[in-house]
Amino acid sequence: KKITVAIDGFSSTGKSTLANQLANHLGFIYVDTGAMYRAVTYFAMQNGYINADSFDKQTLINSLPNIKLQFKFNADLGFAEMYLNDVNVEIEIRTIEVSSFVSKVAEVSEVRTKLVEQQKEMGKDKGIVMDGRDIGTVVFPDADLKIFMTASATTRAQRRYDELVAKVDTVTFEEVLANVEERDYIDTHREDSPLVMAEDAIEIDNSHLNREEQFKLVLELVNE
Ligand code: C5P
Repeated sequence: KKITVAIDGFSSTGKSTLANQLANHLGFIYVDTGAMYRAVTYFAMQNGYINADSFDKQTLINSLPNIKLQFKFNADLGFAEMYLNDVNVEIEIRTIEVSSFVSKVAEVSEVRTKLVEQQKEMGKDKGIVMDGRDIGTVVFPDADLKIFMTASATTRAQRRYDELVAKVDTVTFEEVLANVEERDYIDTHREDSPLVMAEDAIEIDNSHLNREEQFKLVLELVNE
């Protein structure tokens, strides 16, 4: 049976790992909507619309038609990589610099409208696991299963820090923690589609659950 699974929650709760694992297991499409907001942010950075001192929102809004986003499945890696205007930006969008600007870009209503529209389109044929902040509330309010993942800020920052150090950046744990807390704040306080748990979502606090335990739990929920 093809169903729609919405996975929302705070930054670095392990949403993507779980969602991807679940989609691969069920033979569904997996969509990491955070990657889309990150790609738009990277576009804004490359064009000088956003930096540490300023954010030219209007120019970004005017440029939205020039942003083409695609996911292409990489069979070797087992997940879909993000392409921005036909260029693979999967590595570039994961830097702490992009993370430091992304929540500001995600506050812009015009950006959200464009991405939400694309996300709805991707879910048309069902058989999809999508993760983000507003999937159960805005993108798929009728999803068959809604999960809301939480974990303490320190647990999440530690995870993100371990990931980053292994991959791209030279960062300190304190920087990562500050970033996670800042994004939590902006994501829950923005006017357009703030991060809230959908009324019919099932909350999973994974501070003390390993990947295998989380996966088993969600798979049971899917099969119910
Ligand atoms: O999931 P990830 O941490 O990569 O998302 C990066 C940022 O994109 C979030 O902190 C949030 O500001 C924004 N986002 C959003 N809505 C989504 C997915 C991500 O606002 N559905």
